[in-house]
Amino acid sequence: MTRACIVSIGNELLNGQTVDTNTAWLTGRLAEMGIPTAACYTMPDEIEEIVAALAQAEVRADVILITGGLGPTDDDLTRHALARFLGVELELRTDLLQKIEDFFRIRGREMVAANRVQARLPVGAQALENQIGTAPGIRAEKKGTRFFCLPGVPSEMKKMFDLSVAAELQAFGSDQVVVSRKLRCFGTGESNIAQMLGDLMRRGRNPLINCTCGSGVITLHIVATAPSRAEAEGMIGQDRTRLCDILGDLVYGFDDQTLAEVVGQELIRQNKTLVTAESCTGGLIGKLITDIPHSSKFFKGGWVTYSNQAKIRDLSVPTGLIETHGAVSEPVAIAMAEGARKTGQADIAVSTTGIAGPEGGTEQKPVGLVYIGMASAAGSGGFRHVFSQDRATIRLRSALTALNHIRAVLRD
Ligand code: AMP
Ligand code: MG
Repeated sequence: MTRACIVSIGNELLNGQTVDTNTAWLTGRLAEMGIPTAACYTMPDEIEEIVAALAQAEVRADVILITGGLGPTDDDLTRHALARFLGVELELRTDLLQKIEDFFRIRGREMVAANRVQARLPVGAQALENQIGTAPGIRAEKKGTRFFCLPGVPSEMKKMFDLSVAAELQAFGSDQVVVSRKLRCFGTGESNIAQMLGDLMRRGRNPLINCTCGSGVITLHIVATAPSRAEAEGMIGQDRTRLCDILGDLVYGFDDQTLAEVVGQELIRQNKTLVTAESCTGGLIGKLITDIPHSSKFFKGGWVTYSNQAKIRDLSVPTGLIETHGAVSEPVAIAMAEGARKTGQADIAVSTTGIAGPEGGTEQKPVGLVYIGMASAAGSGGFRHVFSQDRATIRLRSALTALNHIRAVLRD
């Protein structure tokens, strides 16, 4: 069975400067083709280190995908390392040099001498066309093992993989393809979801169901292995239905859908409008909503009422309510939503008031305490939440939870 190794190269990948997204993308594409990845190596821009990784990769795999280090500067050494590993020299390829010169000429830029190195390939290797950058990729073989050097810039890497590598690898895929889809949930914790799904999350099951979480969004990954994409999709479809039956309203969407997107679509479908009255989230709900194209169809606007005075002046929150209960309280959250709905003349209003920290908490009102108010034709209500972690997380969780409350109102 054909197996792959990924070797990603660049000092920036080893000091926290750049997240290695190329490896994640490539392993995903290979899995879809039925080629398992045996190992991934992340190496610095050093010839000996790269050669060492190639030697290890060669033992484990018959397809080796290398990204990064093809640039024109002195620290880009992948081509030199590959030549050293193959035991050959680099040769200047005049046809490639011509293409690189053309790349600059067409853009009205002068080519500096440094770019000449990008026309040098290990003897016996082939160039892989780069449609969006200067550096061609490199394809080489050694005793049946195939090596593909791709650019480090993710957009160039993806384009070159699809254009010049995918077709060749397709033939080596096993008779099994792996397809992965996501189910997005909000409103409960990871362990609760795992308990609800029970045996469906068993290791070794096909499709495999696993769980990741961030900012309160629980993502279930359904990973199916089957002889064809159609069969894998069919298996995923069946599981998706089962999961939706079990999890009910906790499921808000599929794949890369966001809560704001789903809420926006539902507001448009129901022909309803929304306004926001934000204190501790400082406009974040409005930001998440207006990230969605066409949000003007349903979002009328919002207030960021951070001070008591602004809550009283802009949202007609009664002074006595703040004096009696404090600004961070359920009655004030409800009054904010009601005031916003009335002034903004919208169908639905949502509000937030809370303590995002890191200071300002008390025993009764700890950091992370957030009240969310809702007002709609069906009536008003307030919800108490206590979120943990840092200020940014508390604010994001508050905004997402507010969106989830809007989702609930739209459902009723
Ligand atoms: P290079 O081809 O090594 O000069 O890489 C060019 C740029 O692409 C780097 O400065 C990084 O910003 C980016 N890059 C390189 N390798 C990766 C990787 N594995 N994942 C994500 N970005 C990368
Ligand atoms: Mg580099």
